[in-house]
Amino acid sequence: MKKKKLIIATHNEGKKKEFVNVLSSLAYEIRTLKDLSHLPKIEETGLTFKENAVLKAETISRLTGELVLADDSGLEVFYLGGKPGVYSARFAGDGATDEQNNTFLLKLMENIPYSQRRARFVCVIALAAPGKKTQTVEGICEGFLASSPRGSQGFGYDPLFIYGDGNKTFAEMDIKTKSRISHRGQALRKIRDVLLSY
Ligand code: IMP
Repeated sequence: MKKKKLIIATHNEGKKKEFVNVLSSLAYEIRTLKDLSHLPKIEETGLTFKENAVLKAETISRLTGELVLADDSGLEVFYLGGKPGVYSARFAGDGATDEQNNTFLLKLMENIPYSQRRARFVCVIALAAPGKKTQTVEGICEGFLASSPRGSQGFGYDPLFIYGDGNKTFAEMDIKTKSRISHRGQALRKIRDVLLSY
């Protein structure tokens, strides 16, 4: 039987790998925006992760007529009042690389002691399908910011994020270990259950 398509509304390879890691056992043919090059770029105009996730999922579902998952996520640093938050991908400016964002964040946190470097990752995933009510789920993961990057796995702020009270950054963990504890892993397991009951 032909598998039903499931589109992940992202160009981010790191996110894609984490989605596939949790959802590959489902009976869906997984595609990302890289496979659908004709679609327009969606401006993330929302002020919350939820608004942006719903905006991306519903727009792509409307344009393709398919089942779509969209993730909006980011890092919230307590000392910075929750920044970079929804602006995580463009913290150092539009089109900034992960490395530029990390350098920018480290500069803002220079000389701030470990006890004041608390941070958390937040991930909201929206599921949109033609004719169905959009559903959202959330995952949150708490930790601290390292004072210099460590590790070579993952993406984004992973080299700076020390999980919980431990000492490993996300970039020092393999994808399965990160997924068991991360904001995205938590949200993905919730949305997998929704998809299973679809
Ligand atoms: P979005 O694509 O607009 O949701 O932006 C997400 C941004 O948040 C990414 O580009 C990263 O900078 C950051 N981010 C979200 N999740 C993670 C993660 O799991 N690890 C590292 N950085 C992340």
